[in-house]
Amino acid sequence: MSLTTPGTLTPVLTDRWDKDAPYTLSSYRDNGGYQAWDKALSMSPEDVVAQIKDSGLRGRGGAGFPTGLKWSFLPPPDGGPRYLVVNADESEPGTCKDIPLMMADPHVLIEGVAITSYAIGCTHAFIYLRGEVVHVYRRLLAAVREAKEAGLLGEGLGPRGDYNLEVTVHAGAGAYICGEETALLDSLEGLRGQPRLKPPFPAVAGLYARPTVVNNVESIASVPGIINHGNDWFKAMGTEKSAGHGIFSVSGHVKNPGQFEAPFGITMRELIEMCGGMRDGHRLKFWTPGGSSTPIFTEEHLDVPLDYEAVGAAGSMLGTRALQVFDETTSVVRVVRGWTEFYQHESCGKCTPCREGTFWMRQIMLRLEAGKGQPGDVELLDEIAGNILGRSFCALGDASASPIQSGIKYFREEFEAGLTTPARELFPYEKTAVF
Ligand code: NAD
Ligand code: SF4
Repeated sequence: MSLTTPGTLTPVLTDRWDKDAPYTLSSYRDNGGYQAWDKALSMSPEDVVAQIKDSGLRGRGGAGFPTGLKWSFLPPPDGGPRYLVVNADESEPGTCKDIPLMMADPHVLIEGVAITSYAIGCTHAFIYLRGEVVHVYRRLLAAVREAKEAGLLGEGLGPRGDYNLEVTVHAGAGAYICGEETALLDSLEGLRGQPRLKPPFPAVAGLYARPTVVNNVESIASVPGIINHGNDWFKAMGTEKSAGHGIFSVSGHVKNPGQFEAPFGITMRELIEMCGGMRDGHRLKFWTPGGSSTPIFTEEHLDVPLDYEAVGAAGSMLGTRALQVFDETTSVVRVVRGWTEFYQHESCGKCTPCREGTFWMRQIMLRLEAGKGQPGDVELLDEIAGNILGRSFCALGDASASPIQSGIKYFREEFEAGLTTPARELFPYEKTAVF
């Protein structure tokens, strides 16, 4: 089978992960690292932007916005600073692709940062990292230092020696909302992390109100491969509108959970097969295509191609490709209650539908899980979720409502059962646990 056939793996970003000390500069260089940076410096910045735009690369942070198009939204240079900010605040429940990527192969991210900064005319780039992952912070700091000492970053870069690039790694304080790009910018500026009104988008007024590109780790790490191998190579993978490869993170009740790098358009059925199947003696009940913020899917969606269009048409979102798998021993009410608690805890409190709605949804979910629901609770829950959806200031509000509404859609009887029967009686914990 060819690398481009759905159902096969496309090790590009994960290719170096099992090499000896892949995180060192020498290992990265021995395996072709920083060749794309040299190549980009021989191109004009406009040509680099044009190539990424034409490659079809879409944002890997969840929304799938075209990366090159975002870069091209920056206004013409006016002599003032322009920034690149890498969103490394990976926090979505189930999402776990950027952290292993940065641990195993930090230089591919730094090379992508260098190319992107050069392309957009940025001389000071930031990597905003989730605060709890101190080991990743240390690894990124070491990699930036290595690259600087080797003359790959710093002053006097490029054939004419007239390009300078400083890279700062910043560790946040562990708030999920700081993964929302404008809250992240506020946090980076030293303010309380809360979303800003958009527009203006960061491309026009971002960090310190200057033009700023905010891109996810995997998006930026995909840039060196595209520069090295060309757009035909990249477009040959994936689907027409969702080009290339991506890391799919499978967790939960499968035999061998893990990261699988594959072309967009692979299906969940194929990924579960790659995991060795469901754990013995069990069958699939439901799964998430893009982490806890996307409507859940069931067995009927196993053959939906995992690309932005097909998943959207089937009623959910590809999001961060955080594929959490749950078998028939799992209580939907319990799982969704857990996610609701997460969103209530992480709500920044700026807007009423999310701040109040997540609180009340959690109260009702707790009642239903305990088997102490009141008549009308399921309808009320659905109504509150419906009033949050599309009425919140940022995507966190919608995220809290989506799993609830889809949970009720597919498993209404389990929510109704919560009026009389505790979830622990219907689904005892000891049967649910993987270990
Ligand atoms: P969005 O669709 O509003 O924006 C996507 C990107 O495109 C942003 O960078 C935005 O600035 C840019 N953009 C959109 N329209 C633009 C325009 N007209 N001009 C200039 N730029 C424009 O989505 P979002 O709210 O930024 O992100 C939501 C996504 O984040 C969800 O799909 C979810 O999957 C994902 N997410 C990821 C994590 C994680 O841990 N990685 C956590 C939570 C959510
Ligand atoms: Fe804050 Fe929630 Fe409103 Fe987003 S939706 S601004 S997280 S309160």
